[in-house]
Amino acid sequence: MKPPFQQALGIIRQLNRHGYEAYFVGGAVRDLLLGRPIGDVDIATSALPDEVMAIFPKTIDVGSKHGTVVIVHEGTAYEVTTFRTDGDYEDHRRPESVTFVRSLEEDLKRRDFTMNAIAMDEHGTIIDPFGGQEAIEKRLIRTVGEADARFREDALRMMRAVRFVSQLGFSLAIDTKKAIIANAPLLAHISVERMTMEMEKLLAGPFAAEALPLLAETGLSTYLPGLAEKGEWLRRAAAYRWPWLAAREERWALLCHALGVKESRPFLRAWKLPNKVIDEAGAILATLAAVPEPAAWTNEQLFLAGLKRALSVEVVRAALTGKPYEPQHDELRRRFAALPIKTKGELAVNGKVVIDWIGKPAGPWVKETLDAIWRAVVNGEVENEKERIYAWLMERSRTQEKNC
Ligand code: ATP
Ligand code: MG
Repeated sequence: MKPPFQQALGIIRQLNRHGYEAYFVGGAVRDLLLGRPIGDVDIATSALPDEVMAIFPKTIDVGSKHGTVVIVHEGTAYEVTTFRTDGDYEDHRRPESVTFVRSLEEDLKRRDFTMNAIAMDEHGTIIDPFGGQEAIEKRLIRTVGEADARFREDALRMMRAVRFVSQLGFSLAIDTKKAIIANAPLLAHISVERMTMEMEKLLAGPFAAEALPLLAETGLSTYLPGLAEKGEWLRRAAAYRWPWLAAREERWALLCHALGVKESRPFLRAWKLPNKVIDEAGAILATLAAVPEPAAWTNEQLFLAGLKRALSVEVVRAALTGKPYEPQHDELRRRFAALPIKTKGELAVNGKVVIDWIGKPAGPWVKETLDAIWRAVVNGEVENEKERIYAWLMERSRTQEKNC
């Protein structure tokens, strides 16, 4: 058995020893069958949450009402969820109540897609009552049971389907796709936060260029923040190199650019992203507009952007144009390393020193003077040494007086 499963095997065996059934389930089993890197290993069991907590010394009750207990085993946290069926769905969202059941098959039946409804026991034997392996072989995303009903129960599953397209490069089964088209308006019942989580996974997937047009094709985009009128743009977004981007800020910046969003702030706010992400994506876009080509970076722009943002700008530009970003990255790294200072804090003088030198009361002139100083230092006009800066400043005042 592969390492992540091997490490969790103790939990399965312990539950078995106490007379309960226990299996690996969900994404980890799917990824194992696909030969993909395996993420979180989830376990499903016939034991009730209280029974699970009674067996293991280190547990965290993260949602025992819904059947989920976290077991800390050899330093790793595992989600162990009691076999359950979902109660009535209200408003096309996850049900408030769940019913615990003792049968694995019933538990697998409530899962979204056949590829996610496969279990594996302690010997590595696969239990696959809904044809998940066949779907994986055919690279198809297919709902467990009737697609229409499953999307009416929980509309988020439609977004999950398209984000799996992006993550796995699979296609939507015909019935599944038809049902998404028919039920797309139900997405309006889903909270923005949950849609954003799926969208972020979609943008980060290796096949985002295929998934983005699919949002338009299925009509889901009509119900996503700021995307209602962007169908054509989403189709064109297929041309960009999404997988080149490494950070979420870069992905949101590229999305804004790709969609022709004029003001990124309200668009990103509608997705309820953290301010840090909104600010950084906005700064990347502003810098991209200010530096029209890789060769156009001035020292001042590079200094103000900082190396990290400058690299982001070039990778976003590369994703747009399809030209490799490595040469620009190398060049920016070299130029940034050559800057005499990397931050304003490294300047040899500060406001207090400047006030002492000039002998005028503090005012807006202090910031203006400091700005002139860092610019001169960054451009190599003066060395970053107190005496040199003093001399440069005196010379500058003399010239300014002469010009007045
Ligand atoms: P990832 O690799 O992104 O974690 P995953 O398949 O593990 O993918 P999770 O969101 O972690 O996805 O969910 C774990 C499992 O729970 C899924 O594989 C699926 O069986 C089930 N599941 C998750 N969300 C839903 C849902 N909305 N409806 C039905 N089943 C779901
Ligand atoms: Mg998972």
